[in-house]
Amino acid sequence: MSFNLHPLINNGITAGSSSFSGGKLSCHCKASPVTVSLTSNIAHNHACGCSKCWKPSGAIFSIVGVVPRSALSVASGESKLYIVDKDAVIQRHACKECGVHMFGRIEVDHAFHGLDFVHVELSKEKGWQEVQFAAFVSSVVEQGLVAPEEADKVRQQLKGLGLSTYDALSPGLMDAIAAFVAKKNGVLRESKL
Ligand SMILES: [Zn+2]
Ligand SMILES: [Zn+2]
Repeated sequence: MSFNLHPLINNGITAGSSSFSGGKLSCHCKASPVTVSLTSNIAHNHACGCSKCWKPSGAIFSIVGVVPRSALSVASGESKLYIVDKDAVIQRHACKECGVHMFGRIEVDHAFHGLDFVHVELSKEKGWQEVQFAAFVSSVVEQGLVAPEEADKVRQQLKGLGLSTYDALSPGLMDAIAAFVAKKNGVLRESKL
């Protein structure tokens, strides 16, 4: 049996294009959708199992990547946007009508400040960076999406797609957060290597 990880990756991963330079995201509303323009490709695209990222119905994972904040603008339907959880580090701006998250933005002092989180499945264009890894895999158990005994089967399915799996973010991103905190606390160590 295989899990519905996410429609974008269930049948394999399609490589993105290094020359691709952005496109338009559209919410699911048939009439006057919210649209967001991106003037760059995404980076750090990954499958996320956390409970906060938006995912299409039936999927266990969200697919989410980042763009520089300066590369994102709301093109239409801005009045339909609201912030899902004002207390969360990532302020997810979602459509009031269809519930789709259009972008997540960090306003507080944070390692990822200046980056917006987006779901490129909302775009018709092809060439977006492909999924690089899977994050917060154990969180899918917490949400009751899979049984605890099935978590390793989910990991195997992800690995079969060529994705490394983590129960937090990837080591590179965790290191970036840790370095930010060390710097803030004045204890950032310089490499002696
Ligand atoms: Zn909508
Ligand atoms: Zn997430």
